[in-house]
Amino acid sequence: MWAHKQLPGVISHPVAGEIKVKTHPRSKRLRLSFQLPFLFVLTIPPRTSEAKVHRFLVETEAWITKQVAAAQAIKGDSSREILFQGLPYQIAQQPLGKRDLYQIDAPAQIILLDPVGASVSQRIEYLCRKELKKRLPSIIEHYSQLMGLFPTKVAIRDTRSRWGSCSSAGHISLCWRLIMAPQEVLDYVVVHELAHLRHMNHSPEFWSVVADYCPRYKEYRQWLKANSRRLHAT
Ligand SMILES: [Zn+2]
Repeated sequence: MWAHKQLPGVISHPVAGEIKVKTHPRSKRLRLSFQLPFLFVLTIPPRTSEAKVHRFLVETEAWITKQVAAAQAIKGDSSREILFQGLPYQIAQQPLGKRDLYQIDAPAQIILLDPVGASVSQRIEYLCRKELKKRLPSIIEHYSQLMGLFPTKVAIRDTRSRWGSCSSAGHISLCWRLIMAPQEVLDYVVVHELAHLRHMNHSPEFWSVVADYCPRYKEYRQWLKANSRRLHAT
């Protein structure tokens, strides 16, 4: 029914897929836990026999099936999907405790949102703003150094009509939704706004500065046009 690789280790199970097996020195009985996005962990006391593990997994099969069905229901709900750094992520709701309002599982492409006290779209905005805020300073720093152009202030906004803006005082604003776009696209918008520190217009001279630091900018402008609706869906 399933193949043992080793105990502890990983058991491949017909319903659960893989079950991670951990030995716990003080554990007295076998215990199976399941965490979203998709992780079964079986804790066993030291020197548990394979036969005992086998019996336990037969007894818990109904429970395993129920967990898998619930996880698939979340995954299958494609309306709960957002782009994050250019990749589609499934949104799942799960209480996460006091400190974390969200959790990003990059390998599984799943974002867990704590549903307590806010709507899904409010949580998504919170997460996008926070993640962009985390990444933006190093991107601005990188291109500022390269281009020799330094903004006096950088802000993250919900600019509905544009992806970014640059004022004559040297203030740059970027839309929080840009964290949904691929990294290169976000880089392009940064280069674009920094280039305005030299040319406050969209003249050929301006575009030539953009092209110097972002040679494929036309593709990225196209990406933003094509995906604008998707980025504004939240
Ligand atoms: Zn512009």
